[in-house]
Amino acid sequence: MLNIVIFGPPGSGKGTQSEKLIKKYNLIHLSTGDILRNAIAKKTPLGIMAKEYMDKGELVPDKDVIQMVINKLDKYEGATGFIFDGFPRTNNQAEFLKNLLKERNIEITVMITLDVNHDELLKRLINRSKETDRSDDKDVSIIENRINVYNKQTASVIEFYKKENKYQSVDGIGTVDEIFERICKIIDKHK
Ligand code: ADP
Repeated sequence: MLNIVIFGPPGSGKGTQSEKLIKKYNLIHLSTGDILRNAIAKKTPLGIMAKEYMDKGELVPDKDVIQMVINKLDKYEGATGFIFDGFPRTNNQAEFLKNLLKERNIEITVMITLDVNHDELLKRLINRSKETDRSDDKDVSIIENRINVYNKQTASVIEFYKKENKYQSVDGIGTVDEIFERICKIIDKHK
């Protein structure tokens, strides 16, 4: 099995690269952001609750996000692999994921962080706000808050995977194809 965590700040290109990776390596895309946006669109109780956090750029509580991950893992039992996009976002989530996978006799193969500087992130997210309908891309102060939340609550997940000897980083600046190639090189070394 090939299980990848794709990691990085908002706007670093996790979703874009995930779309290409799932095709090349035949993986299930487990994007917690996509699952939450879907729940919001369907106005489920989870979606109604999550919207309050997402619209401010805050994290949705761990327990809710973890339950979504469990559901998806169980739904795709027997898959050739998963790509975790937007999860884990806290050390608590990272610890949980490790245990969830252990119970299923699987583990993370490698964690790949996309390195992109603050100015470039801001530029990309402001551009994206013109093309998509994401409420958390609408306002510069919400975008800034998401980057802040990343720095304060999420970036430490890097230390978690360093300790596990699974951390790798790639330069996230360049064309989509250039970055994809950098990621594939790392994956091919680890699989
Ligand atoms: P981005 O990386 O651009 O912020 P995502 O789609 O990954 O986009 O996340 C959008 C929002 O969804 C986050 O700001 C957060 O509110 C919520 N979210 C997604 N994944 C998680 C998670 N693992 N834990 C808590 N909240 C999450």
